[in-house]
Amino acid sequence: MAGIYIHIPFCKKACHYCNFHFSTSLKYKDAMIQALLKELELRQDYLQNESIETIYLGGGTPSVLDVKDIEQMFTVIQWYYNISSLQECTLEANPDDLDKDYISDLKSIGVNRLSIGVQSFDPVDLEWMNRSHSAQQAHDCIHDAYTAGIDNLSIDLIFGSPTTSDNIWSENLELATRYKIKHLSCYALTVEDKTPLKALIDKGKSLSPDDDRVARQFHKAQTYLKSNDYLHYEISNYCLDQYQSRHNSNYWNQVPYIGIGPSAHSFNGKERQWNIAHNQKYINALTEDTIPYELEVLSTDNLYNEYIMTKMRTSQGCQTSVIKGMGEKYERHFLESLSSLIDEGKVIRSDDYYVVVDDYKIISDQIIGDLFI
Ligand code: SF4
Repeated sequence: MAGIYIHIPFCKKACHYCNFHFSTSLKYKDAMIQALLKELELRQDYLQNESIETIYLGGGTPSVLDVKDIEQMFTVIQWYYNISSLQECTLEANPDDLDKDYISDLKSIGVNRLSIGVQSFDPVDLEWMNRSHSAQQAHDCIHDAYTAGIDNLSIDLIFGSPTTSDNIWSENLELATRYKIKHLSCYALTVEDKTPLKALIDKGKSLSPDDDRVARQFHKAQTYLKSNDYLHYEISNYCLDQYQSRHNSNYWNQVPYIGIGPSAHSFNGKERQWNIAHNQKYINALTEDTIPYELEVLSTDNLYNEYIMTKMRTSQGCQTSVIKGMGEKYERHFLESLSSLIDEGKVIRSDDYYVVVDDYKIISDQIIGDLFI
């Protein structure tokens, strides 16, 4: 099995906290689509005819595209890739791009899951984040998706921002559960370098996220969503039974994937490569049938660290037999580093797996750092 990720590097507006690769100018949209189609063709052998289980259009904002552009990509994927086992086809979308007709057209070309960047249902939150949509549009797009027949919805929500009071966060969670959203990605606001948010904080024009508020709201999501039958299957991800994101779960299970588009990463089990994060240079290179990328051959140390980093964030945890398969050095290091974490009650053993205890999930990154080689 394998996955295809396509990065659509355009957004209508720059959200203040965002450090993904995108441009707010759609001037080169058509040239970009041609370049993406070319890359899909040129890299058809990368996955060695492995069966594609998932396709994910992310970004950026894929919903700025016309349906015919997306359909063209699917056609080219069918030409060059083995999609006989395709299960999940996700499109990331912003609420202001979605209406019933657009969603039904997406459904008719094979999109069966929408990941919607709601972030909050509160107007003050949305304004503070500089989102392109209103709170009303966040509500409307969910109704439109259900009416158009796509009910496999994921929504992103951000907690911990200076405008997100505990009440607002509780309301956001309540609305998500009332709408019976199948999958929720709840992210703590982080201040990344080179973002407008970082500049605003440095100039004293915005408050930084408050650690106590972040912790409170993380725990609120854990307890509230659990009591509403959501599985907390990865540190930032919750879902109703059977609605895990297959695409992201495959990333965390080290399943190979190809990343198409500027800044997209690919992984084939031995190497990781990433395309240039520059729209014009990407388009120019593809016009000349070349792919502008860098590549890293992964050492066993890299593979061990990646395994720890991804799996320790999941509810399944890290499997001793997998680490043992990497060599005695890794098994010894893993078990030695774990002993104090187990003594402190931060990690528990469940059969062959080691899992971070619920109360300590908020410090997963610290625990993962302790296990790195
Ligand atoms: S819409 Fe998404 S990708 Fe675009 S700026 Fe906002 S958060 Fe970033």
